[in-house]
Amino acid sequence: MRLVLLGPPGAGKGTQAELLAQRHHIPHIATGDIFRENVKGGTALGEEARAYMDRGDLVPDDVVNRMVADRLDRDDTASGFLLDGYPRTVAQAEELDRLLGARGVALDAVLRFVIDEDELVRRIAARSAEEGRSDDGEEVHRNRLEVYREQTAPLEEYYAAQGLLHDIDAVGSVEDVNARAEAELASAVKS
Ligand code: AMP
Repeated sequence: MRLVLLGPPGAGKGTQAELLAQRHHIPHIATGDIFRENVKGGTALGEEARAYMDRGDLVPDDVVNRMVADRLDRDDTASGFLLDGYPRTVAQAEELDRLLGARGVALDAVLRFVIDEDELVRRIAARSAEEGRSDDGEEVHRNRLEVYREQTAPLEEYYAAQGLLHDIDAVGSVEDVNARAEAELASAVKS
């Protein structure tokens, strides 16, 4: 199973990604997590990414694409993977199609977590307080939403045109949203 998750920052995508990945025994590949590990570890990649992340801007496509290509070359992706936070631009989606095509495989489904903006602003304020994430200040979050609308939302069209896009209502408990995602996935992968 090869999956991509889409949804604005704060939609609960990371939590859902973990549950789906566990259930289907596929690695959860979260580009944001990989960047944060690199920042923490003081690597060259982390140094390169940090300023973009602190502003809530996207790290340049070529940097992210190279990182994902390396990650997809690891053996644990042989039976599938779940991408969380990638692709985030149409150029990244095109590169992903190329990467997968070169490996003779394709995506099975793209799940989009749908939520309105008022709810997002509430959630992000709560998460910021809990985790102390440096990129979740109000200003930065507003920028992250703006970046999502401008650069990532066009991917919805891109994947809808390929017949891969499936909407999941992201409002509700973790368990309810997970159940919706599993149901949607079951029908998506069957059809
Ligand atoms: P996330 O945890 O997915 O919200 O990612 C945190 C930050 O990492 C983002 O705000 C970006 O600065 C960077 N990042 C993660 N994934 C990508 C991506 N696919 N393209 C560009 N930047 C990314």
